[in-house]
Amino acid sequence: MDIKKLVHKHIFDIKPYIPGKPVEEVQRELGLSDVLKLASNENLFGPSPKVVEAIRAAASDVNYYPDGGAYYLREKLAARFGVKFENVVVGNGTDELIRILCTATLGPEDEVVFADPSFVMYKISAMVSDATLVSVALRDDLTHDIPAMLDRVTDRTKLLFVCNPNNPTGTFNKKDDIRKLIDEVPDHVLVVFDEAYYEYADDPDYPQTLDYFKAGKDVVVLRTFSKIYGLAGLRIGYGFVSEEMGDVVHRVRNPFNVNQLAQTAAMAALDDQEHVRSAIEFCKKGRSQLYAEFDKMGLSYAPTQANFILVDVGRDSVEVFGELLKKGVIVRPGTHLGFPTRLRITMGSESDNEKLVRALKEVLGK
Ligand SMILES: *Cc1c(COP(=O)(O)O)cnc(C)c1O
Repeated sequence: MDIKKLVHKHIFDIKPYIPGKPVEEVQRELGLSDVLKLASNENLFGPSPKVVEAIRAAASDVNYYPDGGAYYLREKLAARFGVKFENVVVGNGTDELIRILCTATLGPEDEVVFADPSFVMYKISAMVSDATLVSVALRDDLTHDIPAMLDRVTDRTKLLFVCNPNNPTGTFNKKDDIRKLIDEVPDHVLVVFDEAYYEYADDPDYPQTLDYFKAGKDVVVLRTFSKIYGLAGLRIGYGFVSEEMGDVVHRVRNPFNVNQLAQTAAMAALDDQEHVRSAIEFCKKGRSQLYAEFDKMGLSYAPTQANFILVDVGRDSVEVFGELLKKGVIVRPGTHLGFPTRLRITMGSESDNEKLVRALKEVLGK
């Protein structure tokens, strides 16, 4: 069979997502016993022990299908954020919600506006729908160029993604930028705020986009349990959408898109806000530690509002990545992310960060 004829042509334009290398594989390949993964913005503080207990307790019921409507979790999220039950959707990771929004709205006639470099899933999901990609370069300070993005909106634009804080830069767009966007974006464009790192953002000028949603603006706000709640392996994200858009999501999604262990874990995670506060503290300590070390090493970096940092090592990032790998530290080279001389590094514990810094000093001869 000629698969090239069978499959839609545009599918072959998609470059598969490159995940961070799994720890076990690196250990086996390099014969190392102690490998530290700082490559995928995972929460190295880990999930709440109460969550782990809840998963254990729910494990013996996996012969049943999950609650397909995620009724209790959505109710909990609605109460917590002060929106209606109908305004909450959950997905198999926020990735799935991005895919669903694209599937439901985009076709070959449509355009989607996003920043570059930014989170790659907007591009991949839009390409699955064969839509026209309109990517707008970040400003020099590595934030979204909102005026330029508005300039690129046409009659065909359906979605406009804003990743805030932005991955892979850790930078954020301030209240004024977002107000301008909301004020000036035409009515036919749905603005999607991807706030995967929302809880880590502590700058007083970080915008509260959920307020725009509550005020009836045509925006979607996406959040996740993968980052601050430390549940990346379970795949669960959530979003706030209008009732009408919620109805659309329920038509497109798989009936059992979020497994029961994930739903149970997410509810237990919401109940342990003390753990969330500790995870935020963990990250903030990591930020100051790495800022100080990079300053000493004379490396420039973008100030971050997330649990990772983009640092310029002034050399080919794939090479530096490879040398760090040999020392048992996995980071993300910036080359595939649009930053050939930078590394994206997830914050770890104090000793994790020390290990990273030690390895980096050796590799860079500092
Ligand atoms: C990690 C991340 C997500 C969420 O991923 P899921 O694990 O699918 O919930 C979404 N957007 C950005 C920018 C991210 O970095």
